[in-house]
Amino acid sequence: MINHVTVVGAGVMGRGIAYVSALAGFKTILVDISETQLQDAVDTTKKTAEKGVVRGKLTEEKKEVLFGNLHTSTDLAAAVKETDFIIEAVPEKRSLKQSIMQEAEAHARDGVIFTSNTSTISPTELGSYTNRPEKFAVMHFFNPVHIMKLVEIVRGLETSDETVEVVRQVAEKMGKETVEVNEFPGFVTSRISALVGNEAFHMLQEGVASAEDIDKAIKLGLNFPMGPLELGDLVGLDARLNNLRYLHEKLGDKFRPAPLLEQYVMAGRIGRKSGKGVYDYSTGEE
Ligand code: NAD
Repeated sequence: MINHVTVVGAGVMGRGIAYVSALAGFKTILVDISETQLQDAVDTTKKTAEKGVVRGKLTEEKKEVLFGNLHTSTDLAAAVKETDFIIEAVPEKRSLKQSIMQEAEAHARDGVIFTSNTSTISPTELGSYTNRPEKFAVMHFFNPVHIMKLVEIVRGLETSDETVEVVRQVAEKMGKETVEVNEFPGFVTSRISALVGNEAFHMLQEGVASAEDIDKAIKLGLNFPMGPLELGDLVGLDARLNNLRYLHEKLGDKFRPAPLLEQYVMAGRIGRKSGKGVYDYSTGEE
């Protein structure tokens, strides 16, 4: 029985996962190395919940449940000692994820299930950093987590059926639909999204159309809810570039990152979180 969830990494995704976890009734500890990120995560969570109440999506009682269940910490070892279920959401760097898995492994009880919100990295590889690969799976959420319905569950070679079932139950309790995916780089969603996003950058670089018109064409002509360039800004262009580099290495040339995307990331234009990406968010108007 899962009662207590630890989310590691309080960035774009971790804070959203902690939101749906606490709202679902799990006692949730959000862990980060940065106090500033944790404070920022709590502030954003408050804003999101308050907007939810105003829009009639969330009751005051549910909001109380959410904040009653949500806790923050900078001490990973202490947090995982109490936990039943770990969701890792630190940046997409294998060495970093490896060190988180190993530290959590050293302090977590035997039955605890480990998951990662990685967009691309192999669950077999991540599971091998623990001593319990059968209790490891990828649990891939989407941004913004409180709105997006899907969780992709990706099995590693050793992932047990029982683990997949528990991950599915946890995701469903968080209000999500699930799909089960076999291990392959980029799963289903990251692979398609990276390709479309990269192509949009190539088109922008080639001067095919303005960013606004590329996004408008894809939304109104192909019925995507968001344009690929505005989605890139939301996801984070740094994250998008990391994904493309990994997919390029694993799946070949069609995933080679567009030079303009590399240039934006080098310049620090990484999207909404930095105030500027393809679009400018520095005025604060959205
Ligand atoms: P982010 O950069 O917004 O946040 C990462 C957080 O991890 C930061 O708050 C950072 O301080 C923290 N962190 C770094 N090292 C840490 C450590 N040792 N211990 C604890 N916390 C640490 O990243 P993100 O966009 O939220 O992505 C997190 C993961 O989710 C990545 O694997 C990414 O591929 C995946 N993902 C991202 C998206 C998206 O739209 N951004 C969507 C699906 C999956």
